[in-house]
Amino acid sequence: MSKIEMTTPLVEMDGDEMTRILWKMIKDDLLSPFINLKTEYYDLGLEHRNATDDQVTFDAAEATKKYGVAVKCATITPNAARMDEYDLKEMWKSPNGTIRAILDGTVFRTPITVKGIEPTVRTWKKPITIARHAYGDVYKGVEIKVPGAGKAELVYTAEDGTQIKELIHDFDGAGILQGMHNTEGSIRSFAKSCFTYALDTKQDLWFATKDTISKKYDHTFKDIFQEIYDAEYKEKFETAGIEYFYTLIDDAVARVMKSEGGYIWACKNYDGDVMSDMVSSAFGSLAMMTSVLVSPDGYYEYEAAHGTVQRHYYKHLKGEETSTNSVATIFAWTGALRKRGELDSNEELVKFADRLERATIDTIEEGTMTKDLALITTLKNVKVANSGEFIKAIAEKL
Ligand code: NAP
Ligand code: MG
Repeated sequence: MSKIEMTTPLVEMDGDEMTRILWKMIKDDLLSPFINLKTEYYDLGLEHRNATDDQVTFDAAEATKKYGVAVKCATITPNAARMDEYDLKEMWKSPNGTIRAILDGTVFRTPITVKGIEPTVRTWKKPITIARHAYGDVYKGVEIKVPGAGKAELVYTAEDGTQIKELIHDFDGAGILQGMHNTEGSIRSFAKSCFTYALDTKQDLWFATKDTISKKYDHTFKDIFQEIYDAEYKEKFETAGIEYFYTLIDDAVARVMKSEGGYIWACKNYDGDVMSDMVSSAFGSLAMMTSVLVSPDGYYEYEAAHGTVQRHYYKHLKGEETSTNSVATIFAWTGALRKRGELDSNEELVKFADRLERATIDTIEEGTMTKDLALITTLKNVKVANSGEFIKAIAEKL
């Protein structure tokens, strides 16, 4: 069999710990035998980020703008313990944060569903993709612990000095205060990424806020989404046979619980933080959750939603056997390869992505899986595979 050729490179961002080990296995056993892989390689492993003063992360993000599609391995976000462990020059920022800031994107998280790993919510038949607006609101809030009686006001001073003032509260005793903001630019980018990705994946888009209570703040989100939809996406949605659906956040939550799934749920920052954890745990496992960063300009970066699985890596270093689930990392590759194939009209590459996903799902559904899934599956007589065996089993099927 001749290998599939690629015309344009994929941006490949290598990472850390156990996922770095899986990364190499996936390339060696599942990709390289079938594709003449053309990637522009960036080593985002912490050692190399430290050696390059984190320049490599910026370069990788810029390359994503150049080529349009990237695939990323999980990476360590340094904390105090990592400073010592890796003898770091600085506590480098989260690579995902840096990349997101450069691409101005929205993260879409989707569970990979297989027979035998049943969602906790009985009605869910198809995946629910959550899009979280990752800027502002309470995450960029300023707060005051009000010590005692006094007047709190919201004041905006324009560049020319004119002011807008609102009384927040006349305190007659101690209390608390919070100021938060968002920007029109960020909300617009969020809306565009959501509409783009809905079209891309041919799924309905749901969006919800509390605009009845928050008549200016939340209402602005609602208005901007509607305006962009009407002006730029309405016709495209109609042609694609998909819908944009807006409702109140509490109504959305109630409907989600009774739905079949199969749509994208766009959430404001806090809603997305909370709801993504609920949805991912109800679908079964963090190890089965994919993640894609979509920029409003249409750049895509695919990865697994989980981290570097540090605990398994330390076992691996001690020479002990691990059973780490590589499914989300495999799907990061298939997502990126499929998108690359679509952009380049490379049908073979698109088909390969489909086949690799099918082989992965079939392997699990026929009873070979890693330990995390074996613990929650409804299938009987499963074979628990170690990290390498699982990938080899997929290769066999492929
Ligand atoms: P984690 O790597 O997601 O792992 C947490 C636990 O979840 C694991 O110990 C394991 O449970 C289970 N798990 C996650 N992925 C799994 C998989 N593929 N297969 C089997 N089990 C899996 O989170 P963490 O340990 O809190 O973070 C480790 C490092 O990852 C940190 O340095 C953090 O900064 C980084 N991180 C990176 C990203 C990213 O790059 N996108 C995201 C999150 C975290 P058991 O131990 O019970 O088996
Ligand atoms: Mg959360």
